[in-house]
Amino acid sequence: MDQTVWNKALEIIKNDVSDLSFSTWFKNLGFLDIKDHIIRLVVPHILYKNHIESNYKTIILDTCNSLIDTPLNDIQFILKDSLKDLDNTKEIEQLENEADNINYNYESNLIKKYTFDNFVVGESNTFAQAAALAVAENPGHIYNPLFIYGNSGLGKTHLMHAIGNYIKEVHNKKVLYVTCDQFMEDFTGLSRKSSKDNNIDYITFFKNKYRNIDVLILDDIQFLASAQKTQEEFFHTFNNLHNNNKQIIISSDRSPEDLKLLEERLKTRFYWGLEVNIDPPDLNLKVNIIKKKIKGERIAKEIPDNVINYMANNCGNDVRQLEGSLNRLIAYSTIMGFNEINLDVAKEALKDQFKKSYVATDQNNIRKIQKIVSDFYKISFEDIKSKKKSNNIAIPRQVAMYLCRKLTDESFPRIGIEFGGKNHTTVMHSCTKIEHELKNNKELRDSINIIEKQLQ
Ligand code: ADP
Ligand code: MG
Repeated sequence: MDQTVWNKALEIIKNDVSDLSFSTWFKNLGFLDIKDHIIRLVVPHILYKNHIESNYKTIILDTCNSLIDTPLNDIQFILKDSLKDLDNTKEIEQLENEADNINYNYESNLIKKYTFDNFVVGESNTFAQAAALAVAENPGHIYNPLFIYGNSGLGKTHLMHAIGNYIKEVHNKKVLYVTCDQFMEDFTGLSRKSSKDNNIDYITFFKNKYRNIDVLILDDIQFLASAQKTQEEFFHTFNNLHNNNKQIIISSDRSPEDLKLLEERLKTRFYWGLEVNIDPPDLNLKVNIIKKKIKGERIAKEIPDNVINYMANNCGNDVRQLEGSLNRLIAYSTIMGFNEINLDVAKEALKDQFKKSYVATDQNNIRKIQKIVSDFYKISFEDIKSKKKSNNIAIPRQVAMYLCRKLTDESFPRIGIEFGGKNHTTVMHSCTKIEHELKNNKELRDSINIIEKQLQ
């Protein structure tokens, strides 16, 4: 069996699993070789190994065996970065469910429009999306709790609703989504009145709402930090659900370690599961999100690429703001009676939103520099953003970072993000190194001159 047969196997598997599962789990799977009837596949992260092993092993083996003569009997997963093999499995004791079965008027609070289908995946959120889908496909078993963190507007709430909607639809389980505020409000008894109408005492009402469910989604847990008593109640709720293998999904604007006022014993619980973070989107992801929104909302007017790039370049890192700009642009062009949306219309419509207006949309921006530098050094566009350290790639990358700093107004952290999520110190180091080299290295000087000419 070789790569061609593996590609054939993938084609067959593609028809047998959902598009979403295929693009999440199989697209990033590499074929290595076969040894002693064992196929070796390369995965980017332990999460893929765990999930594929428990969900897709049979389908992979059966499909491969239908294509080859000597049957395979197992799969071995190799971690791409030869990460240490972490043992994520946890034995969870099954305890009796204490919740009384009083009929609670159950509502999930899920927003239907937030789904996996309309969540656009890019470098900054791939891992979070994969983890979310793993939990959605196998709630309560592998990653419990799932802790998603990242700055505001990066898609945490969207992803959590997507998990909830998926579990409700596919597994038909009881899901409850609450914001931290809602949880605190329920706890402090503000909902007491409505529960009294049903003649249920408040404690029972609370317990039934929060314990008689299969999945609890708690959004923005950072707000829990200020409320000691509520933390304690959440701790009990958490334990009760967790002990019963009920899935818990939590979001926060910072990592558990940074939740300073949160009780230590609660934080310890979070480490039982999986923490994933969402980074700010790069330009490419922003462009794709705008395109997806345009498609999804069936916006009648054509929006040209240079307008999309203009928005993506200027809106900052908040996806919420990006959506706001798009809505504003549509509203503006409709109210003002423009039949066509072009760059001038967009600039006028969004001038108040984008504090800093760029001279031109696609001139000297980071992507253009990356593209021209990689073409010049004959390496791929992906390589320049990769982590590869060999000189033939590292030097062009440093040159590109240097030029980004020199020719755009972008900050070191921003440039780092656009280069595959590098730390700002890496960018600073690269710039200093190139500046230093330029003094003595004529060949480098000439190369950079040529590149700069191409960028003009
Ligand atoms: P957070 O909870 O992290 O503050 P949200 O989930 O509320 O962010 O996201 C803000 C808005 O941006 C939502 O309307 C959401 O649909 C959208 N959004 C964020 N990330 C994505 C993405 N990757 N694909 C599509 N839409 C996204
Ligand atoms: Mg949110």
